Amino acid sequence: MALRNIVTIGDPVLKKTSRKVEKFDERLWTLLDDMKDTLYESQGVGLAAVQVGVLRRVVVMDVGDGFIELVNPEIISKEGEQETPEACLSVPGKAGITKRPNIVKVKAQNRNGDWCVYKGEGLKAKCFCHEIDHLDGILFTDIMIRECSRDEY
Ligand code: ZN
Repeated sequence: MALRNIVTIGDPVLKKTSRKVEKFDERLWTLLDDMKDTLYESQGVGLAAVQVGVLRRVVVMDVGDGFIELVNPEIISKEGEQETPEACLSVPGKAGITKRPNIVKVKAQNRNGDWCVYKGEGLKAKCFCHEIDHLDGILFTDIMIRECSRDEY
């Protein structure tokens, strides 16, 4: 088990655009394994590689229905709308209301480079959008409608 340090708001790395993964090698697998450990240790629902200081398009998620690894993820369709509270491991102690699609479909590669399609509704759709935003240097605080209390989250 290897934990990585989570970068927090104010660190310029969080504003940077992550690069595509080209090599599906042991280095990627170690990163994914470490991100999984870090996600569960910090009791988050999603983590992007940039949050551990690695500018690669890699995301891990578990919204309670199982662990998934997303490499080079892209949103391929959006439906509906939700205005719900959102928080982030890189923005400790804060939450905010955001407007997100209610259903999204995402295509992503797995750790071996195979493409898969995922569908998310509600919290999972929000999480897909939140994590993919991280890969383009966007935090929920950049797009939130208003701040809300952590208890609402
Ligand atoms: Zn986040």
